[in-house]
Amino acid sequence: MKKTIRYTLFFLLFSNLFFGQIFVQNYSNIANQVSQSNITANLTEFQNLGVKRRGTQPLENAYNWLRNKYLGFGYATSQLQEDTFANSSFTCKNLIVTKIGTLYPNTYVIICGHYDSIVGTGTNDNGSGTSAILEVARLLQNLPTDYSIKFIHFSGEEDGLIGSQHYVTTVVNGTTPKMNIKLVFNLDQVGGVAGAVNNTITCERDLSSPTTNNAASNTITNELITCVGLYSPLNTYLSNAYSSDYIPFENNNEVITGFYEKNESTHPHSSTDLLINMDPVFNYNVAKAATGAMLHFAVAQTTLGLNSIQEDYKISFYPNPTKEYLFINFCITPEDNYTLQLIDINGKIVQTEQISNPKQVETVNVSKLSKGIYLANLFSEKSSTRTKIIID
Ligand SMILES: [Zn+2]
Repeated sequence: MKKTIRYTLFFLLFSNLFFGQIFVQNYSNIANQVSQSNITANLTEFQNLGVKRRGTQPLENAYNWLRNKYLGFGYATSQLQEDTFANSSFTCKNLIVTKIGTLYPNTYVIICGHYDSIVGTGTNDNGSGTSAILEVARLLQNLPTDYSIKFIHFSGEEDGLIGSQHYVTTVVNGTTPKMNIKLVFNLDQVGGVAGAVNNTITCERDLSSPTTNNAASNTITNELITCVGLYSPLNTYLSNAYSSDYIPFENNNEVITGFYEKNESTHPHSSTDLLINMDPVFNYNVAKAATGAMLHFAVAQTTLGLNSIQEDYKISFYPNPTKEYLFINFCITPEDNYTLQLIDINGKIVQTEQISNPKQVETVNVSKLSKGIYLANLFSEKSSTRTKIIID
């Protein structure tokens, strides 16, 4: 009996650590930085761009508006990619923004939603998903994550998912080796209904064919549900995924999950799909949940910000920038053994040092590294800290 209890406790502890499904204060701090005024401003600007039908100037203007948002958040032009698809009568663009992970640079967590509309301005369908993704991108811009992230804004959704289908066919499958996707998290129509009590978000899992990816979708959708509870005030409702940009990925046997409003608006695909008919506070809460979920899915650092870590543990790195030697001052003589990884801007570990029985100040020779920005990842069994190091 005792043995069983001990095993269960161990399993609970291990599974929590492994899946990270415990409350992480730092994730909550970041999710709480989602801004209602940004959400409302994004929705208003999106609405003012007009009807974003395929091949039209408003659609092109919306594409450029999105691009400028990312540049304003601090993303580099080199992180922004255009994926164009066309037929004889129109040309449309998907916008892909890539942020490289520190441990798994070639494995992607995709968060996506469409920005095209038909008939109306599409403020709920899907300015709401667009606004939420922009807030996630703003808050994660300068935050190291273990997995790479792609923020994708599709067009062609209202024409039969042709933008996302084009991306899967030509980019996901057109890359050698095929792009490795951890999961696809799609947000479509998450604006709620004006005047209603919008306190529940529908979380969508894959129940359709092919079925080989359904169990994995169920697992990550359960993780998504947990994140909604941990990082937003919303309740969840479990349903199935259909008719949005995750479907071409699902047909490609990728692992998908999604958000959709529980109170379903009647305005989408009409001229009354406007801000006045939706609930921007619900949109804001959805963005908080999405931020917490992305921090979890992409595995952001779980400790406090870099400065506060260094104050807590009193670990400092100097000089910075440096040329030949990097000194690590632990302030005390640590009891644990440490490992230092230096990771380049592409997420590749370029130098590893085992620091056994560390002295108060340790010296690392970094003279073999070329000039540039690196992430120093210093960790023991009990603690870890990360900071940017410049080799000059
Ligand atoms: Zn939609």
